[in-house]
Amino acid sequence: MGKSRPLEDLRPRTSGQTDCVIANNVSKSFGSVVAVDQVSFAIPNGYFSALLGPSGCGKSTLLRMVAGLIPFEGSLTLHEQPVEGPRPEVGMMFQTPTLLPWRSALENVLLPAVIRGRDEDDRERALHYLHLVGLKDREFAYPKHLSGGMQQRVSLARLLMTGADVLLLDEPFGALDEFTRERLNIELLRIHAEVEATTMFVTHSISEAVFLADEILVMTPGPGRLAGVVKAPFDRPRDIDLMRTPEFTDTVFAVREMLGATI
Ligand code: ADP
Ligand code: MG
Repeated sequence: MGKSRPLEDLRPRTSGQTDCVIANNVSKSFGSVVAVDQVSFAIPNGYFSALLGPSGCGKSTLLRMVAGLIPFEGSLTLHEQPVEGPRPEVGMMFQTPTLLPWRSALENVLLPAVIRGRDEDDRERALHYLHLVGLKDREFAYPKHLSGGMQQRVSLARLLMTGADVLLLDEPFGALDEFTRERLNIELLRIHAEVEATTMFVTHSISEAVFLADEILVMTPGPGRLAGVVKAPFDRPRDIDLMRTPEFTDTVFAVREMLGATI
């Protein structure tokens, strides 16, 4: 393996679906470090895709390329338009909540609307998203009075408030304890089903990737390459019992094998 497979092989075979993101031989170097090397993939509209690999394999770099935040080599299209810079339909979320401490949860969620010069009629929408992420009754709390998990819920509500239908999530729950993370993952699946956004979720946890995603893009480091794509074709909605099933374990091992075969 090593070199990524041709685009046709990676394209998910669900018929009737158009692709949202198509990467064709994208690469990125920082000086002499090749962070991402000749990566190709296609993600259909509405898919939940996990980008998995060990630290330093280029996951964040690849996500930043899709977000239009950094220049790169190769071809990358989003909704059939070449990626040439940030787009309004793309929203990103990171490991650390970047909330303004002097604004309440609701005021933080309203920020994207304020920045666009809109206000009152967006309040209902902001409240809707705060409820969707499970923060009913906490809308007037300030970040310092919210737990890390709650702060990430606010960040997610703010991301949804932008109206983005392509969500790029870079280890969004990576700094949280395992219980909180698990709960937020289950809620993320519910939210994904409701907003129907195409999602790329970066993680270095194999079980998290298999639990959440329709397919897992497996990356290996030095230089960052796509080792292959593993499908996780489990029914939705999913609950934690999925993890007990032999199919789940088989998929986890398929991913491990793909990582092991190329490291
Ligand atoms: P991951 O998110 O998988 O941990 P990254 O995409 O952050 O990996 O990094 C991939 C490689 O590129 C690493 O070797 C990292 O040190 C390097 N890298 C990432 N961003 C920069 C940068 N802005 N300047 C220099 N090197 C970078
Ligand atoms: Mg990273």
